[in-house]
Amino acid sequence: MRDAHGRRIDYVRLSVTDRCNLRCSYCMAEEMDFLPRRELLTFEEIETLARHLVRRGVTRIRLTGGEPLVRKGIIDLAERLGRLGDCGLDELTLTTNGTRLPELATGLYAAGVRRINVSLDTLDRERFAKLTRRDAFDQAMAGIDAAQEAGLAVRINALAMRGVNDHEITDLLAWCGTRGFDLALIEGMPLGEVAIDRRAEHLPLSEVREQLEQRFTLVPSLHRTAGPARYFDVAETGTRLGLITPLSDNFCAACNRIRITATGTVYGCLGHDQKVELRDILRTGGAAALDEALDLLLAGKPLRHDFDAGQNAPALARHMSVTGG
Ligand code: SAM
Ligand code: SF4
Repeated sequence: MRDAHGRRIDYVRLSVTDRCNLRCSYCMAEEMDFLPRRELLTFEEIETLARHLVRRGVTRIRLTGGEPLVRKGIIDLAERLGRLGDCGLDELTLTTNGTRLPELATGLYAAGVRRINVSLDTLDRERFAKLTRRDAFDQAMAGIDAAQEAGLAVRINALAMRGVNDHEITDLLAWCGTRGFDLALIEGMPLGEVAIDRRAEHLPLSEVREQLEQRFTLVPSLHRTAGPARYFDVAETGTRLGLITPLSDNFCAACNRIRITATGTVYGCLGHDQKVELRDILRTGGAAALDEALDLLLAGKPLRHDFDAGQNAPALARHMSVTGG
Protein backbone atom coordinates (compact mmCIF):
# COMPACT_ATOMS: atom_id res chain seq x y z
CA MET A 1 0.00 0.00 0.00
CA ARG A 2 1.32 3.44 -0.91
CA ASP A 3 -0.19 6.82 -0.12
CA ALA A 4 -0.37 9.81 -2.44
CA HIS A 5 2.92 11.12 -1.01
CA GLY A 6 4.77 7.94 -1.99
CA ARG A 7 5.00 6.56 1.54
CA ARG A 8 4.75 2.81 1.90
CA ILE A 9 2.20 1.76 4.51
CA ASP A 10 3.07 -1.56 6.12
CA TYR A 11 2.26 -0.96 9.77
CA VAL A 12 -1.16 -0.99 11.45
CA ARG A 13 -2.09 0.14 14.94
CA LEU A 14 -5.21 -1.76 15.80
CA SER A 15 -7.33 -0.57 18.70
CA VAL A 16 -9.42 -3.35 20.22
CA THR A 17 -11.27 -1.20 22.76
CA ASP A 18 -11.53 2.46 23.77
CA ARG A 19 -11.99 1.42 27.42
CA CYS A 20 -9.30 1.43 30.06
CA ASN A 21 -8.87 0.56 33.72
CA LEU A 22 -6.70 3.69 34.23
CA ARG A 23 -7.39 7.37 33.55
CA CYS A 24 -4.01 8.90 32.70
CA SER A 25 -4.44 12.66 33.00
CA TYR A 26 -2.85 13.44 29.61
CA CYS A 27 -4.91 10.79 27.79
CA MET A 28 -8.41 10.83 29.25
CA ALA A 29 -10.80 12.93 31.27
CA GLU A 30 -11.97 11.42 34.57
CA GLU A 31 -15.46 10.89 33.12
CA MET A 32 -15.40 9.32 29.69
CA ASP A 33 -18.21 8.13 27.43
CA PHE A 34 -17.16 4.77 26.08
CA LEU A 35 -18.52 3.07 22.97
CA PRO A 36 -21.32 0.58 23.46
CA ARG A 37 -19.80 -2.92 23.25
CA ARG A 38 -22.19 -3.96 20.46
CA GLU A 39 -20.50 -1.42 18.16
CA LEU A 40 -17.10 -3.07 18.38
CA LEU A 41 -15.75 -5.23 15.58
CA THR A 42 -15.98 -8.90 16.51
CA PHE A 43 -12.83 -11.01 16.59
CA GLU A 44 -13.92 -12.66 13.32
CA GLU A 45 -14.21 -9.24 11.68
CA ILE A 46 -10.86 -8.11 13.03
CA GLU A 47 -9.25 -11.30 11.78
CA THR A 48 -10.79 -10.89 8.31
CA LEU A 49 -9.60 -7.29 8.14
CA ALA A 50 -6.12 -8.13 9.40
CA ARG A 51 -5.77 -10.97 6.90
CA HIS A 52 -6.83 -8.62 4.10
CA LEU A 53 -4.29 -6.01 5.21
CA VAL A 54 -1.50 -8.58 5.39
CA ARG A 55 -2.36 -9.63 1.84
CA ARG A 56 -1.95 -5.98 0.85
CA GLY A 57 1.51 -5.77 2.35
CA VAL A 58 1.09 -5.03 6.05
CA THR A 59 3.93 -6.75 7.91
CA ARG A 60 3.44 -5.45 11.45
CA ILE A 61 0.36 -5.09 13.63
CA ARG A 62 0.33 -3.47 17.07
CA LEU A 63 -2.68 -4.07 19.30
CA THR A 64 -3.59 -1.02 21.33
CA GLY A 65 -6.51 0.92 22.74
CA GLY A 66 -7.66 2.10 25.27
CA GLU A 67 -6.16 -0.73 27.23
CA PRO A 68 -6.05 -3.72 24.88
CA LEU A 69 -5.79 -6.21 27.72
CA VAL A 70 -9.18 -5.26 29.19
CA ARG A 71 -10.94 -6.56 26.04
CA LYS A 72 -12.52 -9.88 26.97
CA GLY A 73 -10.95 -12.82 25.15
CA ILE A 74 -7.91 -10.85 24.03
CA ILE A 75 -5.70 -13.96 24.02
CA ASP A 76 -8.08 -15.60 21.55
CA LEU A 77 -7.67 -12.56 19.28
CA ALA A 78 -3.88 -12.59 19.71
CA GLU A 79 -3.84 -16.27 18.71
CA ARG A 80 -5.93 -15.59 15.61
CA LEU A 81 -3.64 -12.74 14.55
CA GLY A 82 -0.50 -14.63 15.56
CA ARG A 83 -1.40 -17.27 12.95
CA LEU A 84 -1.13 -14.61 10.22
CA GLY A 85 2.61 -15.16 10.56
CA ASP A 86 2.03 -17.94 8.03
CA CYS A 87 0.85 -15.49 5.37
CA GLY A 88 3.23 -12.56 5.69
CA LEU A 89 2.81 -10.90 9.08
CA ASP A 90 6.32 -10.44 10.52
CA GLU A 91 5.35 -9.14 13.92
CA LEU A 92 2.41 -8.88 16.29
CA THR A 93 3.07 -6.52 19.18
CA LEU A 94 1.08 -4.63 21.76
CA THR A 95 1.12 -1.50 23.86
CA THR A 96 -0.27 -1.85 27.36
CA ASN A 97 -0.34 -0.22 30.76
CA GLY A 98 0.84 -3.56 32.13
CA THR A 99 -1.78 -4.01 34.85
CA ARG A 100 -3.29 -7.16 33.33
CA LEU A 101 -0.02 -8.76 32.32
CA PRO A 102 0.21 -10.90 35.48
CA GLU A 103 -2.68 -13.00 34.10
CA LEU A 104 -2.01 -12.58 30.38
CA ALA A 105 1.73 -12.43 29.67
CA THR A 106 2.16 -16.19 29.20
CA GLY A 107 -0.81 -16.44 26.85
CA LEU A 108 0.48 -13.54 24.76
CA TYR A 109 3.83 -15.23 24.38
CA ALA A 110 2.17 -18.49 23.40
CA ALA A 111 0.16 -16.57 20.77
CA GLY A 112 3.38 -15.43 19.13
CA VAL A 113 3.91 -11.99 20.68
CA ARG A 114 7.62 -11.43 21.41
CA ARG A 115 7.94 -7.71 22.14
CA ILE A 116 5.62 -5.39 24.01
CA ASN A 117 5.62 -1.74 25.05
CA VAL A 118 4.57 -1.03 28.61
CA SER A 119 3.65 2.55 29.48
CA LEU A 120 5.09 3.67 32.80
CA ASP A 121 5.66 7.37 33.42
CA THR A 122 7.01 7.18 36.95
CA LEU A 123 8.60 4.83 39.47
CA ASP A 124 6.91 6.64 42.33
CA ARG A 125 3.83 4.86 43.62
CA GLU A 126 1.99 8.01 44.67
CA ARG A 127 2.81 9.92 41.51
CA PHE A 128 1.56 6.93 39.52
CA ALA A 129 -1.75 7.04 41.41
CA LYS A 130 -2.09 10.77 40.81
CA LEU A 131 -1.17 10.55 37.14
CA THR A 132 -3.39 7.58 36.34
CA ARG A 133 -6.13 8.42 38.88
CA ARG A 134 -5.99 4.77 39.95
CA ASP A 135 -3.98 2.95 42.64
CA ALA A 136 -2.49 0.32 40.34
CA PHE A 137 1.27 0.80 40.57
CA ASP A 138 1.91 -2.61 42.15
CA GLN A 139 -0.19 -4.33 39.47
CA ALA A 140 1.73 -2.55 36.70
CA MET A 141 5.08 -3.50 38.22
CA ALA A 142 3.95 -7.10 38.72
CA GLY A 143 2.86 -7.07 35.08
CA ILE A 144 6.31 -5.97 33.94
CA ASP A 145 7.87 -8.80 35.99
CA ALA A 146 5.41 -11.29 34.50
CA ALA A 147 6.20 -10.15 30.97
CA GLN A 148 9.88 -10.63 31.52
CA GLU A 149 9.34 -14.06 33.07
CA ALA A 150 7.18 -15.07 30.10
CA GLY A 151 10.06 -14.22 27.74
CA LEU A 152 8.60 -11.01 26.27
CA ALA A 153 11.07 -8.23 25.41
CA VAL A 154 9.82 -5.08 27.14
CA ARG A 155 10.23 -1.48 26.05
CA ILE A 156 9.05 1.07 28.59
CA ASN A 157 7.15 4.08 27.18
CA ALA A 158 7.04 7.28 29.22
CA LEU A 159 5.62 10.69 28.47
CA ALA A 160 8.05 13.44 29.44
CA MET A 161 6.10 16.09 31.34
CA ARG A 162 7.48 19.33 32.74
CA GLY A 163 6.80 19.70 36.44
CA VAL A 164 5.44 16.14 36.64
CA ASN A 165 8.15 13.54 36.00
CA ASP A 166 11.00 15.60 34.50
CA HIS A 167 13.17 15.22 37.63
CA GLU A 168 12.73 11.43 37.47
CA ILE A 169 13.65 10.62 33.90
CA THR A 170 17.34 10.00 34.64
CA ASP A 171 16.34 7.46 37.31
CA LEU A 172 13.83 5.89 34.94
CA LEU A 173 16.57 5.35 32.34
CA ALA A 174 18.88 3.91 35.02
CA TRP A 175 16.14 1.56 36.23
CA CYS A 176 15.40 0.42 32.66
CA GLY A 177 19.12 -0.24 32.29
CA THR A 178 19.24 -2.50 35.35
CA ARG A 179 16.20 -4.41 34.04
CA GLY A 180 17.48 -4.70 30.48
CA PHE A 181 14.61 -2.62 29.01
CA ASP A 182 14.81 -0.01 26.28
CA LEU A 183 13.09 3.26 27.20
CA ALA A 184 11.10 5.42 24.78
CA LEU A 185 10.28 8.98 25.80
CA ILE A 186 7.29 10.68 24.19
CA GLU A 187 6.18 14.29 23.88
CA GLY A 188 2.52 14.72 24.86
CA MET A 189 0.16 15.52 22.00
CA PRO A 190 -2.95 17.75 22.13
CA LEU A 191 -5.67 15.13 21.61
CA GLY A 192 -9.06 15.35 23.28
CA GLU A 193 -10.32 17.45 26.19
CA VAL A 194 -8.35 16.62 29.34
CA ALA A 195 -7.85 18.38 32.66
CA ILE A 196 -4.14 19.22 32.40
CA ASP A 197 -2.33 22.37 31.24
CA ARG A 198 -0.70 20.93 28.12
CA ARG A 199 1.33 24.01 27.31
CA ALA A 200 2.83 24.11 30.80
CA GLU A 201 3.64 20.37 30.77
CA HIS A 202 5.18 20.38 27.30
CA LEU A 203 8.82 19.32 27.55
CA PRO A 204 10.92 19.18 24.36
CA LEU A 205 12.98 15.99 24.39
CA SER A 206 16.10 17.89 23.28
CA GLU A 207 16.05 19.33 26.80
CA VAL A 208 15.63 15.89 28.38
CA ARG A 209 18.47 14.55 26.28
CA GLU A 210 20.81 17.24 27.64
CA GLN A 211 19.76 16.31 31.16
CA LEU A 212 20.36 12.59 30.51
CA GLU A 213 23.77 13.26 28.99
CA GLN A 214 25.02 14.56 32.32
CA ARG A 215 24.89 10.96 33.57
CA PHE A 216 24.83 8.74 30.49
CA THR A 217 26.73 8.51 27.21
CA LEU A 218 24.13 8.51 24.43
CA VAL A 219 25.45 7.25 21.10
CA PRO A 220 23.15 7.79 18.06
CA SER A 221 22.04 4.36 16.84
CA LEU A 222 20.83 3.05 13.49
CA HIS A 223 18.35 0.78 15.31
CA ARG A 224 14.78 1.19 14.04
CA THR A 225 11.45 -0.31 15.00
CA ALA A 226 8.25 0.16 13.00
CA GLY A 227 7.46 3.28 15.03
CA PRO A 228 8.84 6.82 14.89
CA ALA A 229 11.43 6.65 17.72
CA ARG A 230 15.00 7.83 17.02
CA TYR A 231 17.32 5.63 19.04
CA PHE A 232 20.50 6.08 21.04
CA ASP A 233 22.65 3.36 22.58
CA VAL A 234 23.16 4.02 26.27
CA ALA A 235 26.82 3.10 26.72
CA GLU A 236 26.62 2.59 30.50
CA THR A 237 23.65 0.19 30.44
CA GLY A 238 23.79 -1.61 27.09
CA THR A 239 20.12 -0.69 26.53
CA ARG A 240 18.61 1.90 24.20
CA LEU A 241 16.87 5.23 24.56
CA GLY A 242 14.23 6.16 21.97
CA LEU A 243 12.97 9.72 21.48
CA ILE A 244 9.51 10.29 19.98
CA THR A 245 9.22 13.98 19.12
CA PRO A 246 5.92 14.73 17.36
CA LEU A 247 6.05 18.37 18.46
CA SER A 248 9.69 19.41 18.55
CA ASP A 249 10.95 17.41 15.56
CA ASN A 250 8.26 16.27 13.14
CA PHE A 251 8.74 12.79 11.70
CA CYS A 252 5.65 12.54 9.45
CA ALA A 253 7.68 12.38 6.21
CA ALA A 254 8.59 8.79 7.10
CA CYS A 255 5.09 7.79 8.25
CA ASN A 256 4.38 4.13 7.49
CA ARG A 257 1.14 3.49 9.37
CA ILE A 258 -2.63 3.72 9.58
CA ARG A 259 -4.81 3.40 12.68
CA ILE A 260 -7.92 1.32 13.08
CA THR A 261 -10.39 1.97 15.88
CA ALA A 262 -12.28 -0.71 17.75
CA THR A 263 -15.36 0.02 15.63
CA GLY A 264 -13.55 -0.29 12.30
CA THR A 265 -12.94 3.36 11.48
CA VAL A 266 -9.54 3.72 9.83
CA TYR A 267 -7.66 7.00 10.25
CA GLY A 268 -4.87 8.05 7.95
CA CYS A 269 -3.33 10.23 10.66
CA LEU A 270 -3.49 10.59 14.43
CA GLY A 271 -3.82 14.35 14.01
CA HIS A 272 -6.61 14.55 11.40
CA ASP A 273 -10.18 13.42 10.86
CA GLN A 274 -9.50 11.87 7.46
CA LYS A 275 -10.98 8.37 7.65
CA VAL A 276 -12.93 5.54 6.08
CA GLU A 277 -15.49 3.31 7.80
CA LEU A 278 -14.92 -0.41 7.34
CA ARG A 279 -17.39 -2.05 9.71
CA ASP A 280 -20.36 -2.16 7.34
CA ILE A 281 -18.08 -3.19 4.48
CA LEU A 282 -16.74 -6.04 6.60
CA ARG A 283 -20.32 -7.12 7.31
CA THR A 284 -21.65 -6.95 3.78
CA GLY A 285 -19.15 -5.66 1.27
CA GLY A 286 -16.48 -8.25 0.39
CA ALA A 287 -12.83 -7.91 -0.57
CA ALA A 288 -13.23 -5.54 -3.54
CA ALA A 289 -15.20 -3.04 -1.43
CA LEU A 290 -12.55 -3.24 1.29
CA ASP A 291 -9.84 -2.49 -1.25
CA GLU A 292 -11.78 0.45 -2.60
CA ALA A 293 -12.18 1.96 0.88
CA LEU A 294 -8.52 1.40 1.74
CA ASP A 295 -7.41 2.99 -1.53
CA LEU A 296 -9.59 6.01 -0.77
CA LEU A 297 -7.93 6.30 2.65
CA LEU A 298 -4.43 6.05 1.16
CA ALA A 299 -5.22 8.64 -1.51
CA GLY A 300 -6.23 11.16 1.15
CA LYS A 301 -3.75 10.33 3.91
CA PRO A 302 -2.57 13.70 5.21
CA LEU A 303 1.06 14.68 4.74
CA ARG A 304 1.54 15.59 8.40
CA HIS A 305 -0.16 16.56 11.63
CA ASP A 306 -0.34 20.21 12.64
CA PHE A 307 0.18 19.91 16.39
CA ASP A 308 1.59 22.99 18.04
CA ALA A 309 3.56 22.90 21.29
CA GLY A 310 2.13 26.29 22.26
CA GLN A 311 -1.45 25.07 22.23
CA ASN A 312 -3.46 24.12 25.25
CA ALA A 313 -6.74 23.40 23.45
CA PRO A 314 -6.98 20.01 21.75
CA ALA A 315 -6.09 19.92 18.05
CA LEU A 316 -8.81 17.27 17.77
CA ALA A 317 -11.75 16.32 19.98
CA ARG A 318 -10.81 12.64 19.62
CA HIS A 319 -8.84 11.25 22.55
CA MET A 320 -5.71 9.16 21.96
CA SER A 321 -7.55 6.24 23.56
CA VAL A 322 -10.13 6.24 20.74
CA THR A 323 -7.76 6.30 17.79
CA GLY A 324 -5.34 3.87 19.36
CA GLY A 325 -1.98 5.18 20.57
N1 SAM B 1 -3.37 1.67 27.40
C1 SAM B 1 -2.18 1.37 26.71
C2 SAM B 1 -1.01 2.12 27.25
O1 SAM B 1 -1.20 3.06 28.00
O2 SAM B 1 0.12 1.75 26.91
C3 SAM B 1 -2.27 1.56 25.20
C4 SAM B 1 -2.99 2.78 24.69
S1 SAM B 1 -2.23 4.31 25.09
C5 SAM B 1 -3.34 5.47 24.34
C6 SAM B 1 -0.80 4.25 24.03
C7 SAM B 1 0.31 5.23 24.34
O3 SAM B 1 -0.17 6.53 24.10
C8 SAM B 1 0.79 5.19 25.79
O4 SAM B 1 2.20 5.03 25.80
C9 SAM B 1 0.41 6.55 26.33
O5 SAM B 1 1.33 7.02 27.25
C10 SAM B 1 0.39 7.39 25.06
N2 SAM B 1 -0.47 8.57 25.13
C11 SAM B 1 -1.72 8.69 25.61
N3 SAM B 1 -2.18 9.95 25.43
C12 SAM B 1 -1.19 10.63 24.84
C13 SAM B 1 -1.04 11.99 24.38
N4 SAM B 1 -2.03 12.88 24.51
N5 SAM B 1 0.11 12.33 23.79
C14 SAM B 1 1.12 11.43 23.62
N6 SAM B 1 1.06 10.16 24.03
C15 SAM B 1 -0.10 9.77 24.62
FE1 SF4 C 1 -5.44 4.04 29.66
FE2 SF4 C 1 -3.24 3.93 28.17
FE3 SF4 C 1 -4.79 6.11 28.14
FE4 SF4 C 1 -3.42 5.57 30.32
S1 SF4 C 1 -2.54 6.05 28.31
S2 SF4 C 1 -5.59 6.15 30.24
S3 SF4 C 1 -3.39 3.40 30.35
S4 SF4 C 1 -5.35 4.14 27.40
